[in-house]
Amino acid sequence: MFKKILIPIDLTEVAISKPALDASMELALQSKGVLRLVTVETLLPASFMEYVPPEFDKSQEERASQALEQISAGLALPKDNISHAVRFGGIYVEILAEADEWGADLIVIGSHRPSMATYLIGSNAKTIVRHAKCSVLVIRA
Ligand code: ADP
Repeated sequence: MFKKILIPIDLTEVAISKPALDASMELALQSKGVLRLVTVETLLPASFMEYVPPEFDKSQEERASQALEQISAGLALPKDNISHAVRFGGIYVEILAEADEWGADLIVIGSHRPSMATYLIGSNAKTIVRHAKCSVLVIRA
């Protein structure tokens, strides 16, 4: 049913994406679909830029890209069926933009159990569910 599955991954907390990756893989195998892993890196404020090396953004992107490649390599799907993207900016804004641009028909998000903190400050998962144009599956870790 779902052919283009986007999995947002927080590289600082890969463990909560594991159940989301497992579920996505099963769905992709059933539908002969494809997966795309996306991670969003934070942009440094312009005032910090003079304190970091000139190639900072590039090396941040390369590191993130390698980390996604490593995660992809551990998935039991043909490599041609997995792609990845590194984006910079606000987390849910960039995830929603990637979903639109790539034409995802499902976003699969790993999420902690709801807590008072997430009720009060909101969470990426909640905002993505609310604003995505495609279906969203939230997998509780
Ligand atoms: P909660 O677990 O409280 O719901 P979030 O709303 O941040 O926390 O949801 C966690 C999910 O959000 C992660 O599994 C991942 O799918 C996505 N996510 C969080 N940070 C990032 C990031 N930097 N890049 C990509 N996805 C992220």
